[in-house]
Amino acid sequence: MSSKNNSQAEPESIRYVNLYESEGKVYTRKISGFYQSIRRYTCLPLILGYVLLPWLIMDGRPSILFDLPARKFHILWLTFWPQDFMLLAWLLIISAFALFTVTAMLGRVWCGFTCPQTVWSLMFMSVEHMCEGDRNKQIKLDKQGWSTNKVLRKGTKHFLWLLIAFITGVTFVGYFVPIRDLLSGLLPYRDEFGMLSIGAHPVAIFWTLFFTGMTYLNAGWLREQVCKYMCPYARFQSVMYDKDTLAVHYDVARGESRGARKIGSDYKAKNLGDCTDCSWCVQVCPVDIDIRDGLQYSCINCGLCVDACNMVMDKMDYPRGLVRFTSEDQLENGKMNFVRIRLLVYLVVIALMSSAFIYTVYTRTPLSMDIIRDRGTRLYRLRNDRVQNVYTLKVYNMDRDDHIYSLKISGDYPFALGKHRPIQIKAGGASTVPVNVSVSKNKLDTENTDVTFYLESTDNDTIAVERTSPFLGPKK
Ligand code: SF4
Ligand code: SF4
Repeated sequence: MSSKNNSQAEPESIRYVNLYESEGKVYTRKISGFYQSIRRYTCLPLILGYVLLPWLIMDGRPSILFDLPARKFHILWLTFWPQDFMLLAWLLIISAFALFTVTAMLGRVWCGFTCPQTVWSLMFMSVEHMCEGDRNKQIKLDKQGWSTNKVLRKGTKHFLWLLIAFITGVTFVGYFVPIRDLLSGLLPYRDEFGMLSIGAHPVAIFWTLFFTGMTYLNAGWLREQVCKYMCPYARFQSVMYDKDTLAVHYDVARGESRGARKIGSDYKAKNLGDCTDCSWCVQVCPVDIDIRDGLQYSCINCGLCVDACNMVMDKMDYPRGLVRFTSEDQLENGKMNFVRIRLLVYLVVIALMSSAFIYTVYTRTPLSMDIIRDRGTRLYRLRNDRVQNVYTLKVYNMDRDDHIYSLKISGDYPFALGKHRPIQIKAGGASTVPVNVSVSKNKLDTENTDVTFYLESTDNDTIAVERTSPFLGPKK
C-alpha cells in the first residue's frame, strides 16, 4: 500500500505504509545487564575460536582445512573424503535438528546470542559506541555538519570496521587455504622487474576482498536488515514456536495502561500499569521493534529489552520482569510446560543420529579403492592362449599413518594377477595403480564374469577393502 496524502481524516486504526520506503538508521542505546553479559561472554570465545582455529596445527596441518583442490575436509583430528559426503550430510542434519530443538525450547536464542551476524554486529556496534559515543551522541553527531571532530570519529570507526572486516575475510579464506601461506602471499614484494607484486592466487585474493566487503557491509551497514529481510531462518522459525516456547514477552496485564509518572507516585490511582512508557526497551533493540506490540517475527530473542526494562523497574522500585523470558501459556494461564512430546521426539532423534554418526566415524575403514576397467579395449589376447583385462585402481589411504598394501584377486575362474608396482601410500594420500588380470581362454566358458580385488594393509589386517569389477572374455 502506498503512502497517501488524503485531505480527509483517516480512522486512527488505518496506517499507510510505503513498502519501498528506505529504513532509517537504528541508533541503539548502550545497555548492560544479565543478557548483555551473556551475549558478550558468548561472543568472545566464538570470535576467538573463529580467528584462532585456522592457526592451530594438528598432525602437521591446520586443525580445520576445507582443502577443495585435494577434495578433503580436515576437521580437527578427522579427515572427510568425497566418499564421506554422506557423513557430512548427516552432520548438517544433526545440526539442523539441534537448532530446531533449541528454537522450540528457547525461541531464537541462536539468532540473539550466537549467530555470526549478531556476533559481528555486536562487535561493530561496540566500535561505534567507542568512537561516536552512546545513542544520543551518535544522533547529534549525524545531524552536525562536517567538522574535524566528525571526520576523525567517523574515520576511526570506518578504519576499525575495515580492519575487523579484513581480519574476518582473511580468516574465512584461511579455512580453505593454509592461513600462513595465504598471509605471506598477501604481503606485497618486489619482483625481478622491481614492480610491487602479490604472491597469493587471484582466487584467494578475490574471496578475501569479497568477504572483507561483505563483513563491512553486513555488520556495519545492513545489521538488523539482514535478520529482518535476508535471513531465511527468520522466515520459518515461527513454525517451531508453540505456546510453551520461552521467548521475550511484555506482560500486558501488568504493564497497561502505560504512561509517564514520577518515582514514588501512586500511579495505580491514575489507572496506570507498571510501564512508564520510557521507550528504553525500544532504544536498545538491535532490530528496532517495540516488544510491547507483541511477539514479532523479527525479534531475535536477545533479551536486551529485558535488561533495559529491568533497569527501569529497579529505578522505579517496581518488581523486575515486566519484559521477560516466558511462554505464552505462562502469561495467559500461569502454566509452564517445559517438557513436551515434540521436544522429547527431537532429542531422541538427535541422540540416535549422533550415536550412529559417532559409531560410523570411528568404525569406518580408513581405506578406499575405486576400480576403473579399461574401456578402450574389451580384452587383450596373450600369446600363451590367455586373455587379459586391464584395470586402473585408485587407492586412498584415509588413515593418519603411512601404509603398504597387498593386493589379491579372486573369482569363479583361475584368474592371475599381473605384476604391478608396490602400493605404498603416505597418510592422507592417494595412488593410481594400473593392474592386469588374465585367465586361460580354455578355462573361461563365459563372455562376462566378475573379478574381486582384495586390498589389505600389510601392517594391520583390519584395514582392508574389497571391490568387484567385471571381467570380459572373448565373444562366444
Ligand atoms: S524485542 Fe527485545 S529481545 Fe527482541 S530483538 Fe528487540 S531487544 Fe532483542
Ligand atoms: S522499558 Fe519497560 S517501562 Fe520502559 S517502555 Fe519498555 S516496557 Fe515500558
